[in-house]
Amino acid sequence: MSHIDKDNAPSLTLIRFANLLGALVIVIATEEGHRTSYRWHCTGCLTERLGRELRVNREEANTHAGTCRALPQPEPTT
Ligand SMILES: [Zn+2]
Repeated sequence: MSHIDKDNAPSLTLIRFANLLGALVIVIATEEGHRTSYRWHCTGCLTERLGRELRVNREEANTHAGTCRALPQPEPTT
């Protein structure tokens, strides 16, 4: 049985929603061997949820985007 390194597993951004003030809420798929896990996170308030089903993640991310008022994170300055 092979070990899946979740920190280095290939991930793909599938869906991007904008919250009420423009911060992105992103649904991400990660390949874990024969399985794909899904998660979403809000780049405004930094909420994150894990799940196995794309449908559930999409609905939760969309619902969150419709209620979250967190501003986008500031751009790092150099
Ligand atoms: Zn949020």
